Amino acid sequence: MTKIKTIGMLTSGGDAPGMNAALRAVTRAAIYNGFKVKGIYRGYRGLVENEIADFQAQDVSNIIHRGGTILRTARCNEFKTVEGRKKAFENMKKHDIDALVVIGGDGTLTGAREFAREFDVPIVGIPGTIDNDLYGTDHTIGYDTALNTIMWCVDRIRDTANSHERLFFIEVMGRNAGFLALNGAIAGGAEAAIIPEISIEQDQLAELIEHGFRTTKKSSIVLVAESPITGGAMGLAERVRNEYPQYDVRVTILGHLQRGGSPTAQDRILASRMGAAAIDALVEGQRNVMIGDDDEKMVYVPFSKAIKNEKTIDPQLLQTVHELSI
Ligand code: ADP
Repeated sequence: MTKIKTIGMLTSGGDAPGMNAALRAVTRAAIYNGFKVKGIYRGYRGLVENEIADFQAQDVSNIIHRGGTILRTARCNEFKTVEGRKKAFENMKKHDIDALVVIGGDGTLTGAREFAREFDVPIVGIPGTIDNDLYGTDHTIGYDTALNTIMWCVDRIRDTANSHERLFFIEVMGRNAGFLALNGAIAGGAEAAIIPEISIEQDQLAELIEHGFRTTKKSSIVLVAESPITGGAMGLAERVRNEYPQYDVRVTILGHLQRGGSPTAQDRILASRMGAAAIDALVEGQRNVMIGDDDEKMVYVPFSKAIKNEKTIDPQLLQTVHELSI
């Protein structure tokens, strides 16, 4: 194994608030430990297309509070091919990069695993996604900020929902995971959450309406996880219009609003700890692991586990929404 001297870092896939705090932590912890750092722009695309620059400690000044990612992010189909990854490896060599820290979601870690398998590159992953859908970590970077944004939006929609006595479906992100919808519903005091994890087993809309939904209330708010499985907020609203025409139903899709904004304290702390832990991992000779947060402790989770294992939703949370919405 070659001794690591230079570490390349990138952000990839969907952006998440706190990615900048993670880049700052990776850069500074690496320099503190005697490594050189290179920033790779636009995720794997920058590796394939050779968009790589030296990073010093001052290059990550004043970014801890900024949303988005100063390295930019992208989706790169070329990296999904062997030829693309070969180009990426050649560019790594050109820049004397011996190891990588990649910050992103499920796709980013899947790409890292493929790359590490083929080219024997030590890679450490940091979970950066608002969806919180990676196994082996209690939280992913960006999740808490997105949750707070959702709560802020629900508060505002509640004012208008109440005034007009309406039923609102609010669609939130999360791909095929219901963490944002479920915890957003609890934090926003919503009447229900419709999530893909449960949709497979039961018709949540029918259950909602049949359980005396809205009998004691002037308005109702239901959080819906975006997913073909739930049908999304539009799909559910359409069903209500057809099957329960007595309801005055409206839809708000929060969309990319959830991706932006200054990271919360929790996300900044998580990103800072994970960035430093990624460098510790490389110092300890770890490779092909994701940094996880297990009960406030930084742990190493093999890529294969983080990607393949399903992170489960605690059904008790759904029961809590149900109980508190009477
Ligand atoms: P996220 O990391 O947020 O889940 P994506 O799923 O878009 O985002 O993945 C980000 C990038 O990771 C892709 O654009 C691609 O370059 C790389 N990637 C994803 N899956 C693979 C794969 N199976 N093999 C190689 N690279 C992959």
